[in-house]
Amino acid sequence: MEKILNFINGKHLEPVSQSYIPDHCPMNGEVYAHIPDSDERDVEMAVNAALDAFRIWKKYPAEKRAACLFNLASLIEKNAEEFARAETIDNGKPITLSRSVDIPRGSANFRFYAHALLQMHTEAYPMDDVALNYVLRQPVGVAGCISPWNLPLYLFSWKVAPALAAGCTVVAKPSELTPMTAYMLSRYIAEAGFPDGVFNIVHGLGAKAGNAIVSHPKIPAISFTGGTVTGKHISSVAAPMFKKLSLELGGKNPNIIFADCDFDAMMKTTLLSSFSNQGQICLCGSRIYVEESIYEKFKQEFVARTKELILGNPLDEKTRIGAVVSQAHKNKILGYIELAKKEGGTILCGGHEARLEGPLKNGYYVMPTIIEGLSHTCRTNQEEIFGPVVTIQPFRTEEEVLEMANSTMYGLSSTLWTNNLKRAHRMASELEAGIVWVNGWLIRDLRTPFGGMKASGIGREGGLQAIEFFTEEKNVCIKL
Ligand code: NAD
Repeated sequence: MEKILNFINGKHLEPVSQSYIPDHCPMNGEVYAHIPDSDERDVEMAVNAALDAFRIWKKYPAEKRAACLFNLASLIEKNAEEFARAETIDNGKPITLSRSVDIPRGSANFRFYAHALLQMHTEAYPMDDVALNYVLRQPVGVAGCISPWNLPLYLFSWKVAPALAAGCTVVAKPSELTPMTAYMLSRYIAEAGFPDGVFNIVHGLGAKAGNAIVSHPKIPAISFTGGTVTGKHISSVAAPMFKKLSLELGGKNPNIIFADCDFDAMMKTTLLSSFSNQGQICLCGSRIYVEESIYEKFKQEFVARTKELILGNPLDEKTRIGAVVSQAHKNKILGYIELAKKEGGTILCGGHEARLEGPLKNGYYVMPTIIEGLSHTCRTNQEEIFGPVVTIQPFRTEEEVLEMANSTMYGLSSTLWTNNLKRAHRMASELEAGIVWVNGWLIRDLRTPFGGMKASGIGREGGLQAIEFFTEEKNVCIKL
């Protein structure tokens, strides 16, 4: 049984409490590792190490900093298969997804920010003969990075890479549900060349280890991805301390399908945007609005093709639907399916858990589920389910579907299917979302701003914005 350890000041350490929490494998429900139940004492040690290391790291020449990030990217690539298997066993996602998306993106994040930091520049504002202003962009100090379970290495690295690139040192906490790939990464940090204390990883529960990071007075910036309720709590702790806050939170994304779209491309992608990673991607389109004239055709084909998706052993390459992350999350998803029935919804397929045979019989599996007949205002269509559950609903006009699409408290992403260019521009401008995909989904260019409106978050990750978040701008004004 694997014992996961914290990584503080370049060393793997047991938690001060000496207590551990169990890590369940979603594929079979068994405990297969133990995670440090860290508390404020472990966080204190990590912050002290990070404060010491900051004096060195902030002065590192950009090329040397970039080299460490490049090296870490290469080490992930070199060990990609081991990382992919670990991600699947820890999270329950199909191995094909870990191999093609999660792990490549983990290394790409380090590589991208290594390149980006070499391109950083600042502005100057000459005032004729009076004065010269120039702007210094300096790292804020120790960055607190807290990430969720749905894309473990992918989102963990999406935070720590820009923080390290900016010249900050880091105290990071991965989700207690999926700690394994962050732990594996910690084995390569020294080999990549990072000085001790620059990149620290503390494992443990959100309310304990996470809260100790958020409330620590010597951590001036918090980058958090997770649920909206947690984000609200973190804001209430961090805002009065005047910390910099980046919050990437929940979503309830609309997928809007007009009759003039390329039907086959739309259908293929809609199956992915609905059920990839068992619907546990914050960008999945869980509310599907279909123009009335093609609603019946869409419904028949979507239901038939969803029934063909192979649910099974996540390590099997044929599997398209793996396990959801935990027993508690499975119960939450099934609870929402019951709610949908109570609210008058009709289950067109799925609607229940799946039981596999043999050694996987206690795993956490939920059939991909399509529901129709609900109002866009009901709880099923307003609250984030974060599972393999979508609703479908017909619409008649652009105005009507815009009203439905924008009706939730969330504003993370939207998907739009139409071949009418003017309509695409009109709708993209009116949709309340941080990203609008037209005739596609999950196409990501790491240079673009990424984040949500409304209750989906504050600030943007991605591109140079993410490095800038971890810096303070200082204007130097020299009288001439
Ligand atoms: P969560 O909020 O329960 O946990 C996220 C992280 O925060 C975990 O590491 C957890 O330990 C920690 N945490 C929990 N309570 C804390 C506290 N009081 N103080 C400090 N840290 C605390 O979220 P989750 O269930 O892990 O992830 C699923 C959610 O994440 C969904 O709502 C999903 O939409 C969202 N998400 C958003 C994005 C995005 O980019 N907007 C991306 C992925 C996931």
